[in-house]
Amino acid sequence: MRFRWQESSLVVDAPAKLNLYLGVRGRRSDGYHELETVMVSIGLFDTLRLTPAPPGVLEFSCSSRHAASDALPDSEQNLVVRAARLLIDAANPRCGAAIHLTKRIPVASGLAGGSTDAAAALVGLNALWKTGLTREQLHRAAARLGSDVNFFLDSNPLAVCTGRGEIIQSRVLRGPLHFVVVRPGSGLSTADVFRALDVSQLESPSDSTPLLQALGDGRLGQAARRLRNDLQPAAMGLNPQIARALAALSRGRTYGRMMTGSGSACYGLCASSRHARSLEAQLKAEFGGHAWAVRAAV
Ligand code: ATP
Repeated sequence: MRFRWQESSLVVDAPAKLNLYLGVRGRRSDGYHELETVMVSIGLFDTLRLTPAPPGVLEFSCSSRHAASDALPDSEQNLVVRAARLLIDAANPRCGAAIHLTKRIPVASGLAGGSTDAAAALVGLNALWKTGLTREQLHRAAARLGSDVNFFLDSNPLAVCTGRGEIIQSRVLRGPLHFVVVRPGSGLSTADVFRALDVSQLESPSDSTPLLQALGDGRLGQAARRLRNDLQPAAMGLNPQIARALAALSRGRTYGRMMTGSGSACYGLCASSRHARSLEAQLKAEFGGHAWAVRAAV
């Protein structure tokens, strides 16, 4: 998350994430799945502009910079507004806010655009309103908004997340990682993908330790062989375009390639920013402009 003041407005850039590893450990009695996932935040950002407003006023508007943004929920259901309402209930701020969201992260793509917007709203409004919620209080609010929101709160680019994804252990990212991300066709609903998942068909359990070791040692070839996403087969059954995206990433000689989260976006791990940028141009031509060369921030 990046912050800057522009006159009286606080502007927050909220990054997307990729799942380098997503292992499903089974279904819990509360209906959620137990997960182990390695997430990395990347340089593809939504932007929130938070401007002080008179007491009691909460205005929300949104503009989209991206053709692959499916319909966003109207203001009260939008995760940004839900985050603001949680903060208002918890801290009763003395002034209101006008919030403008510029959407660049494609919706329902496994890039956690809604979750990062919610985290940016929590942290940004806590600063704008000087409500002084502690890190623990913000984490409790984040967990109520969604499983991926906690990851973005601490702005650490790499973490292992367990539980339903809300238990975060930050890790050190030792060098820059370069990716190309492509979003094939339409998005996918996370709920639909989990419904289509057959837990009995999952590969035998492993863990993310070998991947993290390879990343830590800068062995990209090894790391690429350890990429995993247990949701990919179910998502491919729902959106055949995912196979086309993975094939294109393979032709582009990426070290490794995988779908992120519950899809439909996929990424390739690239040798350099130059490699990522040259693939971006090819993939934009093939996938209607929906490709991005990005870096995981160090
Ligand atoms: P998930 O967090 O379910 O894995 P995702 O990363 O695949 O989601 P998101 O872009 O976060 O996809 O959208 C998930 C859903 O959240 C969307 O279908 C949308 O209805 C809802 N949503 C609410 N607020 C937002 C927001 N600010 N940006 C994007 N989606 C939002």
